[in-house]
Amino acid sequence: MVKDCDIAIAGAGPGGAAIARQLAQSGCRVVLLERSRFDGPRVGESLAPAVQPLLTELGVWQEFVDLKSLPSYGTRSVWGGPQEAEHSHLLNPYLCGWHVDRTAFDRLLAHSAVRAGAQLLLGTQVLRCVSGANGGFVLSLSEGNELHAGFVIDATGRGSTLARKLGAKSLTFDRLVGVAAQFENARAGARCYTLVETTPDGWWYSAPVGNERSVVMLMTDGDLLPVWPEALGRAGLTSAGVAGCELKWGPRVFSAVSRRLQRTDRCHKRWLAVGDAALAVDPISGSGVVRALQTAKAAAATVLSCLSGDDSAIASYEADRDEECTEYLFKRIGYYGLERRWPNSPFWQRRLR
Ligand SMILES: Cc1cc2nc3c(=O)[nH]c(=O)nc-3n(C[C@H](O)[C@H](O)[C@H](O)COP(=O)(O)OP(=O)(O)OC[C@H]3O[C@@H](n4cnc5c(N)ncnc54)[C@H](O)[C@@H]3O)c2cc1C
Repeated sequence: MVKDCDIAIAGAGPGGAAIARQLAQSGCRVVLLERSRFDGPRVGESLAPAVQPLLTELGVWQEFVDLKSLPSYGTRSVWGGPQEAEHSHLLNPYLCGWHVDRTAFDRLLAHSAVRAGAQLLLGTQVLRCVSGANGGFVLSLSEGNELHAGFVIDATGRGSTLARKLGAKSLTFDRLVGVAAQFENARAGARCYTLVETTPDGWWYSAPVGNERSVVMLMTDGDLLPVWPEALGRAGLTSAGVAGCELKWGPRVFSAVSRRLQRTDRCHKRWLAVGDAALAVDPISGSGVVRALQTAKAAAATVLSCLSGDDSAIASYEADRDEECTEYLFKRIGYYGLERRWPNSPFWQRRLR
């Protein structure tokens, strides 16, 4: 195994894989470390139309098209009143979003980083990260090896585990979780839109994953988890969509907290967080993967500035993430403020407070 590199990236989700590809293309020696083998369930299947220019710029659009993901023509939502409202992507310049198999999508991006020259180590978790010589870092890996890196990127998702090992804190804004299940569903491919529906428990999201599967997810707070079958029964449209379908996996709980990372090193050390590790947003925004790709792009430019001697680029990268966080929090108030039908529900009371 390689013992040292210019840039070590922990986490090969969309954020980590995208920055790995960009930095490897710029000639950096990049090691991309991923604890999984892309073998377990992953969530975040609905990609917004804005993903298209980002994948095109990354040079992976044709490979994405070859995945043959289902187009998503928009969202139908029952939010704020009993009537179904439609938000169509057809008004968007890219015309549609996509319903993807997240495991296949994440694997595609990770392998595109390898083709650009990054070294990908699957089944390898970063256990520790400490400052090393010359402003660099030493990472201890689950394989028992050590890796020396001049720059490290935390792309570990909502847990931001690498940044925490480097002393960072986080501002956490809620206790949101997604309780997800996948169903075999022969009717899935006929429904090229995302369905969103609120109940007193929280809000439900369902979408096709390929032609023969659907994902169904309850977004609620971790301390308010209801009994799944009864809660699904309260979501009339969502449960009708999977009536009679065989459960494939789940219900399984995924953290979905909104969180902004807070550095404690005054941006003096050569590390950055991208994607959810930098700013994790509520899935209601439908923008997690797009944001991960956008921050990967901004972080790649920041790393290259630092390598050419301008370490002040780190502070301006963080200032941009702070601004993004403020803008996101205002939008989130707007989304939840539209639903006032459940005044006695703790989930909704917390959001309207
Ligand atoms: C319930 C739910 C539903 C969502 N729905 C959508 C949606 O419909 N559309 C959308 O755009 N977004 C959605 N999102 C958000 C989206 O999934 C994320 O924003 C996106 O995956 C962030 O990408 P990332 O690369 O930052 O992190 P992640 O995708 O979380 O990737 C992090 C990677 O790091 C690895 N890792 C973690 N710790 C270590 C370690 N110590 N060492 C090595 N590897 C490590 C993990 O295995 C993982 O592969 C949803 C999120 C949730 C929770």
